[in-house]
Amino acid sequence: MIPVPNPRARRERVILQGEIPNPTNIPVGCRFHPRCPVALDECRKIDPQLLPQAALHQTACIRADEIIPDKNE
Ligand code: SF4
Repeated sequence: MIPVPNPRARRERVILQGEIPNPTNIPVGCRFHPRCPVALDECRKIDPQLLPQAALHQTACIRADEIIPDKNE
């Protein structure tokens, strides 16, 4: 989550469904895909690399460019 400089700003809380993976049996592909609400079939195959998303922000998600609306916020 990217910090917002307004302490009064409210965000919708997202409650993830599903179980946390067993650390001795991490899922293939993106390790978050079993609980990700926007996962695609590729997420089960590709292990996303940590890449710069903005000046001081990095993501490891193949959909980061679609999901994060403005890289400069
Ligand atoms: S790569 Fe991104 S969209 Fe895919 S499962 Fe991981 S976090 Fe979700």
